Amino acid sequence: MTMLFTDDRLVTARRLLAALRTVPALAARYPAELSTLDDLMSLPTLDKNDFNVALDHLEPRSEHGSTWIFSSGGSTGAPKLGYAPTGLYMARVHQQWAPLGPGDLFVNAWASGKLWGSHYLFNALADLCGCRIVPLGAIDEPEFDPWLAFFAARSVTSVGGTPSTLRLLFAHARAAGVTLPNLRSVLWLGEAWDPQLDADIPAVAPNAGRWGLYGSTETWVVGTNTPACAADTFHPLPTQLVHVDAEELVDITSVDPSVLNPVLRYRTGDAGQLVSCACGNPEPALRLLGRRDGVVKFRGTLVHVDDLVRDVAAMPGVRRAQLVITEHPDRASGLEVLVTGSPPDLAELRGGILAWSLDLNNLFAHDPEAFTVRVVDSLVRNVRTGKTPNLVIRHG
Ligand SMILES: [Zn+2]
Repeated sequence: MTMLFTDDRLVTARRLLAALRTVPALAARYPAELSTLDDLMSLPTLDKNDFNVALDHLEPRSEHGSTWIFSSGGSTGAPKLGYAPTGLYMARVHQQWAPLGPGDLFVNAWASGKLWGSHYLFNALADLCGCRIVPLGAIDEPEFDPWLAFFAARSVTSVGGTPSTLRLLFAHARAAGVTLPNLRSVLWLGEAWDPQLDADIPAVAPNAGRWGLYGSTETWVVGTNTPACAADTFHPLPTQLVHVDAEELVDITSVDPSVLNPVLRYRTGDAGQLVSCACGNPEPALRLLGRRDGVVKFRGTLVHVDDLVRDVAAMPGVRRAQLVITEHPDRASGLEVLVTGSPPDLAELRGGILAWSLDLNNLFAHDPEAFTVRVVDSLVRNVRTGKTPNLVIRHG
């Protein structure tokens, strides 16, 4: 790494600081100067709300080419907007990460449109790799058989999507006896890796390795993962400064000269540790420990969604779980726990979930019918992103 490059990073960090100082609601938090990159640690972190306030004020525009606008969260109400320059920063990713080569035929199965960036980001990567690309978009179970036949007939070498989509696709392929011996890479982004894929992929595509990216619409790609890395461990790009505080909360500073979003000590909501990766890359890698913002206020009580979902999924016969909260205008909210698998005794499962915490038990003391547990074939997926959230909120 040259000194010039370090200077470039400082120039970008100073530009982001100056931009944030123009945001009326945030200006007073920030010092006027940043002498060195080490001084970043004296700046306050930005949470998602601060970040959206800043973007609303800044409305960044790219100096060259087009400015892409995507949704940076806001699952209810109007989408919050995030910005990226043409190319979507994928040249940096391409320098560090090589899941595709010119000989590949890559199927892009991330959902397109609806302000979600993943589909376009991988098209940009394919441009840089010079491979052939099939911009498939989101597919659902009824379409799996004909598309799997297409994959086999065309000797597709690579497929990418969210782990939720990939899990359904490979489980279906395995059950149907489909084999894809030419498939050599499975690309993933958008959720944590699903361990079920470690069982299903080798049965369907014995020559395929998993290649992952970590990031968010706010930060764009932060780090890369190869088949030699642990599935929860990512190597940061040189343009993404990753910091982990004493509580293991991750914050990111983007120092790519073309960065548009004010990613200056932005807290992603993820927890992590800096570790050395099993792949042998000596640089510190980011090991993700899960979300730290998975808490929802329900009937006046904080419910730790991710913890509850994880523990329900470990109960007898349950494979996966999801919470569905239905908010009613005229009465208290209801909670439904959806589970897949075959729990031996639904009443026992219901009792087990209520016993998970005293609070949960007390919440339904007066209206037990507002808490239900249901076994389903598949959990609720977000049609925009293809992700399976731990919590779905509905309006009754
Ligand atoms: Zn590694």
